[in-house]
Parts: sequence; C-alpha cells; structure tokens
Amino acid sequence: MHVEVETTKKVIIIGAGIAGLSAGCYLQMNGYDTQIFEAHNLPGGVCTAWKRKGYTIDNCIHWLVGSSASDRFYHLWNELVDMKGIKFVDSEEWMRVETPDGRCMRVFTDLDRLQQEMIEKSPADEGLIRSFTGAAKRFVRFHLPVEKAPAVFGLMDGLKMIFGMLPFMRQLKKWSGMSIQQYADRCSDPLLKKTFESMFMPETNMLFLIMTIVWMYKKSAGFPIGGSLEFARQIEERYLKLGGKINYKSRVAKISVRNGAANGIVLDSGEESTSDIVVSAADGHSTIFDMLEGKYVDAKIKGYYDSYETFPSYLLVSFGVARKFDDYPRAIVLFPEQPLTADRISKYEGVMVRIFGFDPTLAPEGKTVITAWILTREHEYWDNLKRTTPKEYEAEKNRIAEEVLEIMEKRFGDVRSKVETTDVCTPATVMRYTNNWKGSFEGWLWTPEIGLGGMSKMLPGLNSFYMAGHWVVPGGGLPTAMKSGRDLAQIICKKDNKKFITSRF
Ligand SMILES: Cc1cc2nc3c(=O)[nH]c(=O)nc-3n(C[C@H](O)[C@H](O)[C@H](O)COP(=O)(O)OP(=O)(O)OC[C@H]3O[C@@H](n4cnc5c(N)ncnc54)[C@H](O)[C@@H]3O)c2cc1C
Repeated sequence: MHVEVETTKKVIIIGAGIAGLSAGCYLQMNGYDTQIFEAHNLPGGVCTAWKRKGYTIDNCIHWLVGSSASDRFYHLWNELVDMKGIKFVDSEEWMRVETPDGRCMRVFTDLDRLQQEMIEKSPADEGLIRSFTGAAKRFVRFHLPVEKAPAVFGLMDGLKMIFGMLPFMRQLKKWSGMSIQQYADRCSDPLLKKTFESMFMPETNMLFLIMTIVWMYKKSAGFPIGGSLEFARQIEERYLKLGGKINYKSRVAKISVRNGAANGIVLDSGEESTSDIVVSAADGHSTIFDMLEGKYVDAKIKGYYDSYETFPSYLLVSFGVARKFDDYPRAIVLFPEQPLTADRISKYEGVMVRIFGFDPTLAPEGKTVITAWILTREHEYWDNLKRTTPKEYEAEKNRIAEEVLEIMEKRFGDVRSKVETTDVCTPATVMRYTNNWKGSFEGWLWTPEIGLGGMSKMLPGLNSFYMAGHWVVPGGGLPTAMKSGRDLAQIICKKDNKKFITSRF
C-alpha cells in the first residue's frame, strides 16, 4: 500500500518589512518552514528608526490603523503582536496648517469640532465642508472586511461583502472617484484649499482621506509608544518564536526558476538557497524586472509600472533639541514666506513639522525630537549626487538642514542654540536602506484612476511565486502590508488544501 507522507513545504521570503514578517508569521502558524532573506541588518523595512546621540529619529508611523479593539485590523495585529501590551497615543488635533498671512487651520480628529473650525475659518466653503464631514460621519459605520483574502472568497463571503457594502456603494464610488486635489480646487478660501492639500498626497482619492480621519475619530489610528522600529521588532520576535529564521545582510539578486516554477534565490554574494515556494515582499520593480529579469510580465503588469503614480520620496530633516515643546500639536504644516529650496523640488511647498514630545521614549528627559518631512520626486538627483559627488551631497544636506532650522527658529524660537544633533535622510538614503523604487515611501498612490480593484499577487507564467507588500496593494500602509502577508498565507493554504489557522495573544 502506498502511503502519502505530508512533507513540510519550504518557503523563502524576500524582505523583512511588515509584509514579509507578516507572511512569515502566518505561514509558520500554518506549518510551513520559512526563512526570510533581508538586505538590511534590521527588521521593519521603511517602518524603522535610528539613534542619534540619545535621540531616536522615527522614520515611519504617523498613525497605525487598528490601534483600538473597536477596529477589525486590531484583531489581526493582535495575532502578530501583543496589542494590549502596547500603549497607543491618539491626537485631538491631527495637524495644524499655518500660512504666511498668519492664518491657521486646526484639523481636529473630532468630526464636529473639525466642521466647526473649518466653517469658522472658511465660511464661504460651508457647503463643501459639510459634505466632507458628513461623508466622514456616514463612514464611521463602515467596516472593511479584512479577515479573509478576496482571492479565497466563497459564494457566501462574496454575498456577505456585497450586502455589507451595499448601503455605502454610492458614497464609495463618489469619493474614490475624486482626488483630494480636485476637492481642494473647489475651495474658494486658500487656507482651506491648502489644508486639504496638506492632509495627504493631493493625487490620492478622497476616500483614503475620509477613511483616515474616520479612523482617527474612532481613536483607532494611534501612535505606538516606542515608535516604528520597536513595533517592527515585536513582529520579528513573534516570527522567530514561531520558528522562522531571518538572514540579515542578505540581498537577493536573482529568483531561480525551474520548469516554470520559482524554486529558490541567489544572493548578491552568489550564495544559493532552494525552496518549494518563493514570496517576494521586497520592492516590486526590482523583483519583477531585476530578480526575474522582466520575463514574467503581461501588458497589465507592465502598465502599472509604465503609468501608475507612486508615492513620492522624501527628505527627513531631524533635530534633537534640548528643550520641550509642550503647547504644540504633533504636526504643523508650515508654509514659509520663502518656500524651502530643497533641490528642484516638486510643487509640494508646505513643510510638515512633527514634534515627538508625545513619546517620552524617543528623547532624553526634558528633550524633544522635531523633524521636517519634505516630499520630493527628485530621487534621481539625490541618488546621482550621492554617487558622483559625495562632497556636494553632504554640502547639500547641510544647506537644507540650515534652511529648515531657520524655519523652525522663526516659528518656535529658542531652537538653534539647543540643537544637540542634526540628521538628514534623503531619497538616496531611502533607496539604499529599503530598495524601494524611486525612493517611494508607500508604493502606489491610490488615485481615482486605480479605483477599488486589487492587484494580482502572482505573475503570469510563473508558478510557486507570490508577492506581498505595498507594491501589490495600491495605497500601501502598515495594515495593508500586514494584511497582504496574511492574505498570501491564506492563498497558499487554499492551494495546498489546508485549513488556514491563526493564533493570537
Ligand atoms: C516616512 C513614512 C511614513 C509612513 N507613515 C505611515 C503611517 O503613518 N501609517 C501607515 O499605515 N503607513 C505609513 N507608511 C507606509 C508603510 O510604512 C509602508 O507602506 C509599509 O511599511 C510597507 O511595508 P512592506 O513590507 O510592503 O515594504 P518595505 O517596508 O519596503 O519592506 C521591504 C523590505 O524588503 C527588503 N528588500 C528589498 N529588496 C531586497 C532584496 N533584493 N533582497 C533582500 N531584501 C530586500 C528591504 O530592505 C525591506 O526591508 C509610511 C512610510 C514612510 C516611509
């Protein structure tokens, strides 16, 4: 008699960002034998931070969707980290927008306060404001179905989703079909226009903005005390406890293919590893066009890379300052009289200043990290400068730090003399440490053109290969990166006729 012996499948995962760690955790929970190959020496990918003279410069989390138990994402996060053990802080004021004429708009997370503030400051746009806050109030009752990957939906799942979404269909269509810029352009008051343009990337659809403010209103988009790297480290710990293995400083150069199926990887060093399945949770462009040499693309996938807009790259100019900034909100978008000249920068003129006093773990007692986050599409300029003229690159970084410091000094006073450390991260830094295409901070922008449909996590003509992370989910973000890893584990389990199981804290 022939007895089938079930063997444990080996899975190689490229990238220990949130998507790679998540895929690893869920595959381990389901009996797969996984190992991650990560180019950097840290987990988290863009969800990271670094130390400078006792200060922690946090690169990533502004808000983590799913920070409260009332949100469905919370229960998914809780499968990866002990959510009760993390202290989250919510903000009453998401940000403040200040224009050179001395005007200011406070973007409250309470929808009634926000409506009142906006109408008070921009009465001529009352109709537009009410329409925005009214939509947000309606979406408070909207819950994204997140537990099951759409690719493994059965008939009942599909029907449940349709019924859940039905009351919101018109609104979903309306707001996802309009960009923030289009809405902002309808404002007659320049302050309100700048406020909308500052809340998120103006090319993004309005639904993204509305859902974000709804999550903040529900206090389910908090900041985890300890910051981004600490959060990523907790997922790394979970993965290792589940029996996973991470190979750091292991940059994948090539994905090996045999008989139309991915069966391993080759590192930059030439070292090879084999597996039954390969998952890339690394940058999408280099996965498809370098590691797989562009051999597994069709017109649709090529179309994404030819025509879809990515989130821009950024400069993060940070200062460790030996003083407190008690009476300020967490974020202020400053529009200085003289716009900041950072390279040949894109039209995003406002400088987003973040004040990290709300997390005492990020600076020594009585001191604060303040940062300026400047979005730019000039990744090539920065990359060339760093590679070809490193001295000029350093000089340019210093010049920008000086300009930003001047802006901070003018706005807050008593900053310059108290600066203990300065740090400038450029698009070249982002590309070097995370390998994200064009130094993008979040993959594909979720524009009205992309609509509500998803992206394939598989490539045509290639078996045993999957992708996860912000290059396969437009709009990117931490919960979507985490969910894409989870979804992938469900897809792989279904293919292997296994029941998908999870365990939680
Ligand atoms: C400044 C900033 C602010 C943000 N703010 C928020 C926020 O407030 N809320 C939110 O939800 N999201 C936010 N995001 C977005 C969110 O962090 C990302 O969308 C998400 O973390 C992406 O995770 P990922 O695993 O898909 O990709 P990544 O984090 O890019 O991870 C990919 C990993 O793959 C590795 N890798 C790449 N190439 C190779 C290779 N060849 N070999 C081996 N390893 C490789 C990289 O080193 C990296 O570790 C922010 C991002 C940034 C940068």
